[in-house]
Amino acid sequence: MSRPFNFSAGPATLPEDVLAQAAREMLDWRGSGMGVMEMSHRGKEFLSIAHQAEADLRDILSIPAHFKVLFMQGGAIGENAILPMNLSRGARADYVVTGSWSQKSAKEARRYCDVHVAATNEADGHTSLPAYGGWQLSERPAYVHVCSNETIHGVEMHELPDLRALGCDAPLVIDCSSHIASRPIDWTRVGVAYGGAQKNIGPSGLTLVIVREDLLGHALPITPSGFNYQTVADNESMYNTPPTYAWYIAGLVFQWIKRQREVTPAGELTGLAAIEARNIAKAELLYGYLDQSGFYRTKVQADCRSRMNVPFFLPDDALNEAFLSGAKEAGLLQLKGHKSVGGMRASIYNAMPLAGVEALVGYLKDFALRHG
Ligand SMILES: *Cc1c(COP(=O)(O)O)cnc(C)c1O
Repeated sequence: MSRPFNFSAGPATLPEDVLAQAAREMLDWRGSGMGVMEMSHRGKEFLSIAHQAEADLRDILSIPAHFKVLFMQGGAIGENAILPMNLSRGARADYVVTGSWSQKSAKEARRYCDVHVAATNEADGHTSLPAYGGWQLSERPAYVHVCSNETIHGVEMHELPDLRALGCDAPLVIDCSSHIASRPIDWTRVGVAYGGAQKNIGPSGLTLVIVREDLLGHALPITPSGFNYQTVADNESMYNTPPTYAWYIAGLVFQWIKRQREVTPAGELTGLAAIEARNIAKAELLYGYLDQSGFYRTKVQADCRSRMNVPFFLPDDALNEAFLSGAKEAGLLQLKGHKSVGGMRASIYNAMPLAGVEALVGYLKDFALRHG
């Protein structure tokens, strides 16, 4: 029996292979006599899981040796406070606002440092990306924060800003919660990348922080020890008990990414390259149909449309309920848009197969025919 396709924005669908493997290993992880949830985080079994997961993530994202990978808790919302505590030194930090998530980040950071909004797309309802060359960066900000994929508004930076080219030496901080591991990251442009796991990597409860080593060691004195990046790094993410089961599932997802293969006209792609090619194909299929439908509408400008989160609107909100109930019957779940934006949203993360997007487009066509 095949499962419905789940378009939730997060916690989101996981690769079926991963769930099946976790189910097989639930009662007895590889002959240890224990389930992963029951293991000491300091025992050799869990340490092997933890180290393998980090090695696989480093491999997938080509994370350079001078970056630390921290497996933390508190979510990206927690990071909105934890990050300025660790990086701001109480001074000024620049924030670029491109949607609800970066807006939240800027607001929370104001409690810990002097926040300067260097650019915002608020005037057009968060549907564009402020041109990098027009950002009003501070003289010497402690860091520049962006959300590289706005999960709610569907605005994605397809290329990260190069701050040095903009005359700014500050580290770039990216909240990449909802598109991490969907494409490569250019680490020459990044100081810190963070994100909650529950969009593209695993279950909620795990927060990844990938931080350049030279940025450690400057936390404000008020920083809780368990949220001090230096302390967490010195203790290999085991200063306090980490979210062990979420870490394990993330590790299975990383191995699943490494196994991916995609045959394209340019040849066979593997791992993250295969994932990225598939994500591009899925997004092109969905936006391509929406654009020519003459029925559905999208609002985000074409050059910054998210490959992961696709908000779209029916011609009349009165059709929304019928659309959602029909979708559910067709095995297409959780398409309702975020309440602040309205309409619909299809989140098509790594774990959403092309067949899921094909099924969605089939339903969209059918619904438009019946209601157009
Ligand atoms: C989901 C999300 C968050 C919030 O994550 P929590 O785990 O709820 O703290 C923050 N930023 C982005 C970009 C997100 O997608």
